[in-house]
Amino acid sequence: MLKGYVPPYNATVVQKLLDQGVLLMGKTNLDEFAMGSGSTDGVFGPVKNPWSFSRQYRERRKQKSRGEDEDSDWLITGGSSGGSAAAVAAFTCFAALGSDTGGSTRNPAAHCGLLGFKPSYGLVSRHGLIPLVNSMDVPGILTRCVDDTAIVLGILAGHDPKDSTTVQNPVKLFMLPSLTDVSKLCIGIPKEYLVPELSSEVQSLWSKAADLFESEGAKVIEVSLPHTCYSIVCYHVLCTSEVASNMARFDGLEYGHRCNIDVSTEAMYAATRREGFNDVVRGRILSGNFFLLKENYENYFIRAQKVRRLIANDFANVFNSGVDVLLTPTTLSDAVPYLEFVKEDNRTRSAQGDIFTQAVNMAGLPAVSVPVALSSQGLPIGLQFIGRAFCDQQLLTIAKWFE
Ligand code: GLN
Repeated sequence: MLKGYVPPYNATVVQKLLDQGVLLMGKTNLDEFAMGSGSTDGVFGPVKNPWSFSRQYRERRKQKSRGEDEDSDWLITGGSSGGSAAAVAAFTCFAALGSDTGGSTRNPAAHCGLLGFKPSYGLVSRHGLIPLVNSMDVPGILTRCVDDTAIVLGILAGHDPKDSTTVQNPVKLFMLPSLTDVSKLCIGIPKEYLVPELSSEVQSLWSKAADLFESEGAKVIEVSLPHTCYSIVCYHVLCTSEVASNMARFDGLEYGHRCNIDVSTEAMYAATRREGFNDVVRGRILSGNFFLLKENYENYFIRAQKVRRLIANDFANVFNSGVDVLLTPTTLSDAVPYLEFVKEDNRTRSAQGDIFTQAVNMAGLPAVSVPVALSSQGLPIGLQFIGRAFCDQQLLTIAKWFE
């Protein structure tokens, strides 16, 4: 849809980086309009995970699958900001921006062995970011270590008159303090995140990480976020509803692609949108418009908004009870091979990919995925820390101690 489109202005995040003398290397691949969790549905084709080509992984695959086609045997990066993750993981740049609406920065960070940071909603301007779900979108940061993230966040954070949802309090965070003592911290482990689909390797690293905090004197407690089970469905209703409305602007008149049909304006709109969007985007527009129909609006959209409030309240209750950060997995397993990933339909992939990440967006909280170890296949695994709203600095300080 945006082929050949050159934006007339820079996003605030891009402008702020340029103002600091940052060298922009380029734009990276992603799922079309940031809808996905694999970076397999982009107009430029799928993104390959650089870890697919590590010696350890290659040797393991060779032992396992004699005679398989090597060219198709590669791993997904996760997504939707997989191109950004691949660029940092392959050492082509110092940092990359992604967007995070339901996990799109944290998920590829976990699969590519990187730090993936989603700031509190309102800390970093969304001006110039193509909206997916306005009420959940935030620009995300991908780097190789926490200190690098703090440098980029220090440049990006702050009020922007062009984004009315950004907060006024100034943030200066180029250097993170070093935490030497975690004994005053309380770490919450949400019991609902222990799902049957969780791989045993991720589960074991998760509990080792909790043990590490405990052995250093931190209080580690099990907590409950009781509405977690409704969260994926709720995210789906809210996401597709906002998508239906956001995508209305791509009608062939103002932006990018226009289909050459002169029967009627409506026929031009329809043909442009059919040609310009992939089936994931079209599917979400259809779902969203269904949820927003006059007869469905109360039953789906309004209800989902109420459930979203309950989900946000779950987090607030836990933090009000004295928990400083929550520790969870980021993904169910390490990165999966492309051919395995695309066997599933798109909704299932999203439901699995976003399982531990999207609730955070519905609550507007900061979260960071930190690489912890390599799996038995030699692939990175990440764990997620979730913090109190606008306690981004505390969250990153804890992540720095842990990394
Ligand atoms: N996988 C989620 C979705 O497709 C998250 C997308 C994102 O964070 N941009 O909606």
